[in-house]
Amino acid sequence: MALVVKKFGGTSVGTVEKIQLVAQRVIAQQQQGDQVVVVVSAMAGETNRLVGLSHAITKTPEGREYDVLVSTGEQVTISLLSLAIQNMGGKAISFLGHQVKILTDEAHSKARILSIEGERIHQELGQGKVVVVAGFQGVDRQGNLTTLGRGGSDTTAVALAAALKADICEIFTDVDGVYTTDPNMVPHAKKIDRISYDEMLEMASTGAKVLQIRSVEMAAKYQVPLEVRCTFNDNPGTLVTQEEAQMESRMVTGVSYDRNEAKIAVREVPDKPGIASKIFTPVSEANINVDMIVQNVSSKGHTDLTFTVPKSELQQSLKIVEPIAKAIGAKQVETSTEIAKVSVIGLGMRSHAGIAAKMFETLAQDNINVQMISTSEIKISIIIDEKYLELAVRILHDAFELGN
Ligand code: ADP
Ligand code: ASP
Ligand code: MG
Repeated sequence: MALVVKKFGGTSVGTVEKIQLVAQRVIAQQQQGDQVVVVVSAMAGETNRLVGLSHAITKTPEGREYDVLVSTGEQVTISLLSLAIQNMGGKAISFLGHQVKILTDEAHSKARILSIEGERIHQELGQGKVVVVAGFQGVDRQGNLTTLGRGGSDTTAVALAAALKADICEIFTDVDGVYTTDPNMVPHAKKIDRISYDEMLEMASTGAKVLQIRSVEMAAKYQVPLEVRCTFNDNPGTLVTQEEAQMESRMVTGVSYDRNEAKIAVREVPDKPGIASKIFTPVSEANINVDMIVQNVSSKGHTDLTFTVPKSELQQSLKIVEPIAKAIGAKQVETSTEIAKVSVIGLGMRSHAGIAAKMFETLAQDNINVQMISTSEIKISIIIDEKYLELAVRILHDAFELGN
């Protein structure tokens, strides 16, 4: 007997018929003798609808009330799925995050899970029930509802799998697994059979939304075997697992992209020690994730500091940066939202030279200008004009021979 956590994303529970299909799959697994915990997202489009409502009321919906609103979508699906299972003769019980004590910190809309109490879930499983848990939500120490950031149900599932010591965590979605790039953008992208936690983490951090970043971090930390599979067929998926020898033989494993960053350039900053910390410390204290940073070579004692932040946090960032820029004597602050990030990822970069050179050559052949660059041991990311995004992803995917 295995204990399995199965997570179904928004498109997998987007209609009543699909919820019934999920109920069938779950019952079938239980009938094989396994214990099954299910995590569900809100129905496709529902969280976006709720976010839209909040924006119709205020320009900057945030904090406690935002989380109370956007966490409601999952309450609907846990109930519908439990009813569907019961209606088919199975036993099921639904739980909201706070009912199984998914305790988080207080960072509304990007809360981190601190602990989960597994006792109640084990009890219900012991009584032969399928346990259905709402993804994406938790509760802080004061009893306030919190949410884990967009795509957060993946993290709920992995956290539950770790807390319950499940044998596997399966993420069911609308594609067959993790591909060499987004199969909805590049139809000849290839499914990857096995990928290391580190590569998957870089793919997720650079925009491959098939798994939320924190779910991969947590899977790696607690060594939870993670499989990404399709809800609508029985094809084998992608196993996210520990590094294996042959993974390093792939020069590049995948190409990912991100349209959600904005660029802030602080022009003609006096080139003195301490200036960068004057800008970045308050930004990080506001819990804003700065991604790329470039400091141009200074002329006449001045320098340009350019960095990227999530588009959704641009206004908040400017509120912090503009007064500081003024105070330190910078000439001006410029912003751009028409940028995109493209990244190539692969463990093979550790041992193969020339990947960056090939990336830049490929882009140059199509006259795509690189605005910013950042690298890690197994990743190269660049910022380009958003209008070249699709072209860049396709030519890089072809240049590294990743397709079918
Ligand atoms: P869910 O609602 O099930 O959580 P998501 O929309 O969050 O699903 O994630 C699945 C989507 O991720 C796919 O439809 C695909 O367009 C996108 N995606 C981006 N990059 C990749 C990739 N490398 N492999 C697979 N899917 C990817
Ligand atoms: N419903 C939430 C979202 O749309 C969480 C999730 O789907 O994982 O972001
Ligand atoms: Mg998702």
